[in-house]
Amino acid sequence: QCANVCPVDSIVERDECPQVRQAAADPDRVLVVSTSPSVRAALGEEFGMEPGAFVEGKMVALLRALGADYVLDTNFAADLTIVEEASELIRRITEKDRPLPQFTSCCPGWVHFAEMYAPELLPHLSTAKSPIGMQGPTVKTYFAKKMGLDPEKIVHVALTPCTAKKFEIRRQELHGAADHLGIPGLRDTDQVITTRELARWAKAEGVNWNALEDSAYDSLMGQASGAGVIFGNTGGVMEAALRTAYSYLTGESAPQSLLNLTPVRGYEGVREAQVEIGDQTLQVAVVYGTANARAFLQRMKESGKQYHFVEVMACPGGCIGGGGQPKNIMRDADETRKQRIAALYRRDCSMELRTSHVNPEIKQVYEEFYGQPLSEMAEQMLHTSYRDCSGLLKGQPVSGE
Ligand code: SF4
Repeated sequence: QCANVCPVDSIVERDECPQVRQAAADPDRVLVVSTSPSVRAALGEEFGMEPGAFVEGKMVALLRALGADYVLDTNFAADLTIVEEASELIRRITEKDRPLPQFTSCCPGWVHFAEMYAPELLPHLSTAKSPIGMQGPTVKTYFAKKMGLDPEKIVHVALTPCTAKKFEIRRQELHGAADHLGIPGLRDTDQVITTRELARWAKAEGVNWNALEDSAYDSLMGQASGAGVIFGNTGGVMEAALRTAYSYLTGESAPQSLLNLTPVRGYEGVREAQVEIGDQTLQVAVVYGTANARAFLQRMKESGKQYHFVEVMACPGGCIGGGGQPKNIMRDADETRKQRIAALYRRDCSMELRTSHVNPEIKQVYEEFYGQPLSEMAEQMLHTSYRDCSGLLKGQPVSGE
């Protein structure tokens, strides 16, 4: 559904913690919280830690202390997004079924920008849902079945750096679980709370942050690769997708140059690179901020330059700079974001699993549920469509892609 006030519904921050608290206190509900990549690189700042402190274990422990029955990792779904998005990219390149370049679609701010101001790009947007868009229906179907839970009793909450996700989870297209299970009205994700909102909730409850012992994610949808981790950084989605695309196209593991794809890393608003994959040379670009996106699109149009893959994220530095992240006017915002970015790259570098498609839990979900990337069920549950909302600017109705 097209919003006609703020494109990403982020001007008014709706704190959904009261509803989540209610679910935590209700013995008849099952509270499942999924955590986005960037929260763990910033939450510590709310409790006096330095920017870039990596607090994954404490964050999971905090959610358990506040009453979560299960804590899952949205990085798992970032891996799922990559498997679907890389498969889609390869199909566009080899079968030419849809136009190039493929644009990423995991940022609701960017998606809504395209729907309002650049509808001619909609066929270029990857149809893959965002990680939260994939995590929700997978929790209410696959996870619920495997754990013996009633999907109607699950309250699925996304903990994110992003105020725009509060709008995204309410898009009318995001009802994969309702369609699959035949339960009208069932929502894939019920609430979104941000990093700042979680910190406020914890402080109100008097949780002693320093005393929290690290806790681990629940299994089944709690394991992720380093590629899922770097989703939070500008350039991270691109790098993650290219690692998997390389393996799919060549049949070989991604080389070191793709496990540390420096040309797409950094903090400039627009970065470009050429990446060799087998006999293909891919022209890629990474952009953050809508002003940079406007300028990039204009240049692309005027120059006629051919790109294969373009990542666009609305916030400075990517999701680590999201509107729901901690803010501290005493610190330099750019330096803070750079330290969060470095934290996620350090984490990726320290992991054994660096590519999405080798994640054992990803292999398992395909073997037991989705079949294979771009399967009929994957298309139904993990992909979406977009609407031309540009008419709203002229008071006209909305039309489909
Ligand atoms: Fe949300 Fe910003 Fe990340 Fe886009 S870049 S998904 S608006 S936090």
